Amino acid sequence: MTFALHGLAVSSGIAIGRAHLVSHATLEVAHYQLRERDVPREVERFEHAVEAVKAELNALRKDSAAPGSPSEISAFVDIHALILEDPQLAEVPKDLIRERRCNAEWALVQQMEMLTAQFDEIDDTYLRERKHDVVQVVERVIKALMGKQRRLTRRAGADEHLIVVAHDLSPADTIQFKNLKIGGFVTDLGGATSHTAIVARSLAIPAVVGLHHARPLVQEDDLLIVDGARGVLIVDPDERVLQEYRLRKSELELERSKLKRLKSARAVTLDGVDVSLQANIELPQDMVQVKEVEAAGIGLFRTEYLFMNRDTLPSEDEQFEAYRTVAKAMAGKPVTIRTLDIGADKDAQALRGTERQAPNPALGLRAIRYCLAEPQIFLAQLRAMLRASQYGRVRILVPMLAHVNEIEQTLMMLWLAKEQLRTEKVKFDENVEVGGMIEIPAAALALTPFLKRLHFLSIGTNDLIQYTLAIDRTDEAVAHLYDPLHPAVLKLLAQTIQTANRAETPVAVCGEMAGDPLMTRLLIGMGLRQFSMHPSQILEVKHHVVMADAEQLALKVGRILRLEEPAKIREQVERL
Ligand code: PEP
Ligand code: MG
Repeated sequence: MTFALHGLAVSSGIAIGRAHLVSHATLEVAHYQLRERDVPREVERFEHAVEAVKAELNALRKDSAAPGSPSEISAFVDIHALILEDPQLAEVPKDLIRERRCNAEWALVQQMEMLTAQFDEIDDTYLRERKHDVVQVVERVIKALMGKQRRLTRRAGADEHLIVVAHDLSPADTIQFKNLKIGGFVTDLGGATSHTAIVARSLAIPAVVGLHHARPLVQEDDLLIVDGARGVLIVDPDERVLQEYRLRKSELELERSKLKRLKSARAVTLDGVDVSLQANIELPQDMVQVKEVEAAGIGLFRTEYLFMNRDTLPSEDEQFEAYRTVAKAMAGKPVTIRTLDIGADKDAQALRGTERQAPNPALGLRAIRYCLAEPQIFLAQLRAMLRASQYGRVRILVPMLAHVNEIEQTLMMLWLAKEQLRTEKVKFDENVEVGGMIEIPAAALALTPFLKRLHFLSIGTNDLIQYTLAIDRTDEAVAHLYDPLHPAVLKLLAQTIQTANRAETPVAVCGEMAGDPLMTRLLIGMGLRQFSMHPSQILEVKHHVVMADAEQLALKVGRILRLEEPAKIREQVERL
């Protein structure tokens, strides 16, 4: 039966393919009844999974004993090992399997829910928080039962695209799509500038989020159409609809291939203003795409993705290799590496041992706040960046700054990293530039101290909008209120760009607005000359740059900035 669901369009393009349902390890485990004779084998399967996790924790304990590893990691490994040995987790699920003839995953989750409900009753905060450790241990056992970390492993056939259907996906899940042949994805939760959506755009795969009921309504292997521009999912389409979408898909592909002609064209406006179009990347492997479009540099390397989908932290050497690969590949063009922006919707299990469950993660110990609270992790990253600065034009970018003392502490840490390297006789670029992200309204409103202390600025519009409008960027329930054209957002943006230009401090925009072709003329009119976006957007944005007249746009945008009525603003921006 054909039906359509409507959600938020987050990554344009059309995907046609077969549904592949994925589940969160503990959220959506399957429940099935066993035949009596299969029960002993299920108990055995559970025992093997527990043994596998014990071995995993032992290996982690060995790693964490290595010099330089934070002591908190071995502490959490010990706690997890103790929890795993407790008969409440190691034995009771086996009784449940026998009594209820249910599968092991289900038995384990039932027992977990019973235990965590008891934790909720505890007054002592420390003990109450151990609930999260129980959940993490259960997640590990479930992953072991499933044989894989998450079931994102089904490979598509030669001429078939898989469309991932999930209740929710984390940025860490989505980044795994880079290695799988995924045609598109749809989720029930999520916002348009959540990191899950951002990764989809960086992969240039069509995606729709906030569909509410896709996961329960779609079945494995259903034929699906994802219309990433309109935010529509069509399930089991009839032949006529299918034909129409196949046609639209090939038209889009044709348009994209025409844009390729702009690859080596200079990004210069009609009146001769040069605009730098740089790339946002998550992993060194993204350099293939960056090269394909001849980006002018890397404006944002989101290093937190190096920390995801793993149980241990990447060492300083491993980070150095990643940063050096990118620095070398860009051969003298700027490579802006951002320090760890973990927290909020970006979670890394390797950091969880030291991470507290925050009541409101977007306002909590995120990004630079986290780094300054974890100096060992921060120092290792700064050292790796400095070491890589020998191999190209590395610039260091610091996220989520709001306070002058955060800049000063960061510069102190950098000084320390430099001193250490000098003592060790390790070479680095003594003049490496340090910049700050302007993504908290406080920073945009009180910019002078930032201009005094930093070499460059980069405006993170995703967070700037989130924090200005008090809209959680990952929450589809408030996604309709997430408005890049809100007059308050435009004022903050224009003011930051103009103040930085006046002070002759280079300023870029690296949030999603920079890669949205509808915003290109608006931003040029505000005086922006540096954009950083997913490589897949660069040619389309360039197409708009080469047709723009910067001087005329400055006049028109000046008038738009005086408007306060949202409908008028949108109308004028569309007409630019
Ligand atoms: C931003 O906030 O606009 C930004 C570029 O950083 P991120 O999306 O990684 O938070
Ligand atoms: Mg941000």
